[in-house]
Amino acid sequence: MNALERYKGLILIKKINNEKEEELVKQLREDGKTVYSISRINTFNGCSFEYYNTYIKKNRGINNCYGEVGITIHEYIESVYRENIKDTSDFTQKLHTKLLELEIMDLDFPSETIKNSFVKDMEHFTKNFNKLDGNFTLEKMFVTKIGEYYLMGYIDAIQELDDTLNIVDWKTSSKFTGSKLLEAGRQLVIYKLGLENTSNININEIKWAMLKYINVCWKLKNGNIKKKMVNRGKLIKEMKTTFEKEMIKSGLDELEIGLALMNAEANNSFDNLPNVIKDKYWLEDCFVEYKATEEVVKEVEDYVINTIEEIENKDIHNESEWKPLDFDKEGTFYCNTLCSHRKTCPFIREYNQKNPYKKSF
Ligand code: SF4
Repeated sequence: MNALERYKGLILIKKINNEKEEELVKQLREDGKTVYSISRINTFNGCSFEYYNTYIKKNRGINNCYGEVGITIHEYIESVYRENIKDTSDFTQKLHTKLLELEIMDLDFPSETIKNSFVKDMEHFTKNFNKLDGNFTLEKMFVTKIGEYYLMGYIDAIQELDDTLNIVDWKTSSKFTGSKLLEAGRQLVIYKLGLENTSNININEIKWAMLKYINVCWKLKNGNIKKKMVNRGKLIKEMKTTFEKEMIKSGLDELEIGLALMNAEANNSFDNLPNVIKDKYWLEDCFVEYKATEEVVKEVEDYVINTIEEIENKDIHNESEWKPLDFDKEGTFYCNTLCSHRKTCPFIREYNQKNPYKKSF
């Protein structure tokens, strides 16, 4: 019986500590096995030189502004669910303290406009924070096997609600589209597989809590509920046309409508809007579910196995085998803003020197 088989069935969903999982990873490493994580695999697919620096040379690098804010927000939310924080009135203050720290640390946002928009979204979230229903298991570690390879990870939250279990991943990033959706979705699928492969539990939903966004909801004539996902910081701005039409229809005069919308937009709140809006529209936190269909699961398993095979076929003693990003094709936004090796990577340094006026996109 191998280490993973011995471990199977040991996960108890209510168990808060990760002792068994940590012990297993230690044992696997002592046996000479590499234990991968989905972010490690994604790093390789993003830039193999970043992978080489992080996982082979073990250079830690530096964090970025989004990562730092993300850590602060995650830690605060966790403290609320662990009931170490009961009164959340200082959440916005904590966000601003972190932003100040970032300035001191010289961890800049790509531009002031991007920063202002991000801060407005996050401020709205911290001011309107809602604890979800159900019982929660936080930062649950899992170790599983896909093909011949071992994978580990930490799950933000497992929600136990109405006899079902859901995986919730808090995200402070923008909504996912295209290849980013596929990449982020693989992470959730791995979490689901990680838990299900090593215990008797079944995960019902896997979803992201998209903290920068909120759903504006209303009932349609046919009785269905419509939900519009908007940036929290632009809540009124994004609904302005809809609200305006609604108010005209209800017979409000132009001046009244203009004033109400101006005040509501300035405060980014429903408070200044007339009852015709407040009675019809309501807000809900934004969750995006990802469906782990059979095809999706197969794609994820193939992705994991193929990527690890590619990694293990490279020579860790030959740096030239680990290629940087193709800047002309992929742009330099990730390299200049997010990559933890952006200050030391010779490739991006050289590219920036040769292309001083090229916009980082
Ligand atoms: S800065 Fe760009 S090229 Fe250099 S390691 Fe990071 S992602 Fe790769």
